[in-house]
Amino acid sequence: MTLPPNVYDAEPIPASAREEIDHLLQTGDLFRYTAPENAPVALLEEEFAAMMGAKYALAVSSCSAALFLSLKALGLPRDARVLIPGFTFAAVPSSVVHADCVPVLCEVGENYRIDVADFERRLDDDIAAVIISHMRGHTSDMDAIMALCDARAIPVIEDAAHSLGTTWNGRKIGTIGRVGCFSFQSYKLVNAGEGGILVTDDADLVAQAVIMSGAYEHNWQKHKSPIGDNTGALESAFNRWQNKLPLYNLRLNNMSAALARPQLAEVPRRVRDGRRNHDYVAALLNQSPWLNVPDKLSLEERAPDSIQFNLVGLDNAQIQAFQAAANQRGVKVQVFGQSTDNARAFWNWQFIKDLPELPQTRKMLMKACDVRLPARLKRAELDIIAGALTGAADYVMGDQRAYGT
Ligand SMILES: *Cc1c(COP(=O)(O)O)cnc(C)c1O
Repeated sequence: MTLPPNVYDAEPIPASAREEIDHLLQTGDLFRYTAPENAPVALLEEEFAAMMGAKYALAVSSCSAALFLSLKALGLPRDARVLIPGFTFAAVPSSVVHADCVPVLCEVGENYRIDVADFERRLDDDIAAVIISHMRGHTSDMDAIMALCDARAIPVIEDAAHSLGTTWNGRKIGTIGRVGCFSFQSYKLVNAGEGGILVTDDADLVAQAVIMSGAYEHNWQKHKSPIGDNTGALESAFNRWQNKLPLYNLRLNNMSAALARPQLAEVPRRVRDGRRNHDYVAALLNQSPWLNVPDKLSLEERAPDSIQFNLVGLDNAQIQAFQAAANQRGVKVQVFGQSTDNARAFWNWQFIKDLPELPQTRKMLMKACDVRLPARLKRAELDIIAGALTGAADYVMGDQRAYGT
């Protein structure tokens, strides 16, 4: 008999990581700037930039650190207003506050994506930069967003923490805005425990981010221009910013890079299997009158490792009964707005001054469910998860079909 799977366990780290890790254990060479060249962190940056088709990559201690450094490298003045979606992880408004800027929230639709009309309204309200957070890997309409921001020369940072492997109209998410930020935290597609990386084609931006990440003195010399780039753009940017920027020390260490590097080759499989698992479960959930998995946008190819769906026609008491019934069937469901102190519910971001109300986003959060669906799951396990969810909905909503099978 197949039991409900543990959806929190990560995949094993590829065995090919062993040799490098043994070497690091023997030498103790964990600091990225000790070796003259080819430190695991530097190799990770080179490989990640090549995989994304970006000129530059900077590996740091987390995606939050990457977002913070991106904002700092844009040179935003104190109290600059940064537009972010009202549905994201608390790390996003936190990075804005950390950079001495002011988060401005916009509404998000029932399909978890930015409400472009509301986004446009708020964009004209003295906004200096935008962070597009592709929450749970759901891509907002990047054509509309880029057109609106480009027309006003507002820089776009992509929070692609959960979007590695996702494309929009054939372009890789994280490479559409001025800078894209990714996470290597354990619940993301590449697991280094903790870690993050930013990619950009902007030499001036990356030079500042490199220095502020903790490339003190001339350690920036260990960050190379892309092969074939003879413009000297990166070196002149480093020379321009030498000694002009504070050092925040948000570096990645070699051990984390050694864990992440062999997983890059696994990304296409994890994306393929994650998408297959998601679409299989989505089709089963959509057969229930009480559950709805919103469609992806047509230009989007997703790379999901979890599934989100809305409860249809359930009141708050029924939603909580649904959660309890699913839990009893071995499947934990997070309803973003229903749990106490949820970090993805904007009303809990009380560190923001004059926190606004977002009625549409709140309504979505109160009935939006979240279930992890890692790529490693097998068909029988997916059937158990889908059966538990539809069965729980039938049980709560008094549908007799649940008892007939
Ligand atoms: C995980 C996540 C983050 C934060 O990433 P860390 O590496 O843990 O700092 C930010 N945004 C989104 C959408 C995430 O999923």
